[in-house]
Amino acid sequence: MHAHGCLYIVAAPSGAGKTSLVRALIESTPGVEVSVSHTTRAPRPGEVDGVHYHFVDVARFEALIAAGRFLEHARVFDHYYGTTREAVAARLAAGCDVILEIDWQGARQVRAALPGSEGVFILPPSVEALRTRLTGRGQDAPALVERRMRDAVAEMSHHAEFDYLVINDDFATALGELRAILIAHRQRHAAQRVRHAALLEALLSGGGAGG
Ligand code: GDP
Ligand code: ADP
Ligand code: 5GP
Repeated sequence: MHAHGCLYIVAAPSGAGKTSLVRALIESTPGVEVSVSHTTRAPRPGEVDGVHYHFVDVARFEALIAAGRFLEHARVFDHYYGTTREAVAARLAAGCDVILEIDWQGARQVRAALPGSEGVFILPPSVEALRTRLTGRGQDAPALVERRMRDAVAEMSHHAEFDYLVINDDFATALGELRAILIAHRQRHAAQRVRHAALLEALLSGGGAGG
């Protein structure tokens, strides 16, 4: 018998570094996966369907909504984004921690549906750093960068709805802080007593203690 995985909601304004941090976390930490969202936005150069997102058209997305397939969905930057139920349920049941990289609207829906989830909000160290990162990423046209800068303030205004705050100034430091959140959560008693049921039984049975 294994413990159920924990669902993490990671939110941030676009450009704060959540995709980079989550990717680095998954590459360096066993037992955690990221859920692949559906979106109606166009793929950026280098983005692969089924890896970065499931890229679908509006008709297909609306059909998935109608069929009740989404755990959460929202409109962000004039596009639909959503997490399907099947993207998370089976992996959690298998004992894997699952990360959702979603916006604050989706975060609210997930918290309501799954109260055991943990919310992490990532902030850039400054407004200038956010603009530099959005521009430096080189994947959005200048007008889109300005749009994302405006929307960043709206996104960041929801920071208090999350359980943890991580400032992504030095990348390695922020990565360590994110990993610490996961590792600490795994040591919680409710999960450990399931994971180590056999050990607890052996230790408490008094076998050979002679007392
Ligand atoms: P995207 O998923 O295509 O948007 O890719 P990212 O923007 O997440 O990452 C682009 C590249 O920048 C990757 O090769 C990352 O490993 C790298 N990168 C991310 N953060 C940092 C950082 O803080 N410092 C350095 N040196 N490289 C970084
Ligand atoms: P998001 O997924 O939140 O939109 P990304 O992970 O795509 O953000 O990061 C935006 C840009 O900022 C990328 O070019 C990335 O390499 C860069 N970046 C991320 N974290 C840092 C950091 N701590 N210092 C400097 N640049 C960073
Ligand atoms: P991007 O286009 O930069 O990949 O993502 C833009 C925004 O959409 C980010 O704020 C991201 O958190 C949000 N987003 C990505 N996937 C989902 C999702 O499945 N659901 C919701 N609600 N938001 C998402």
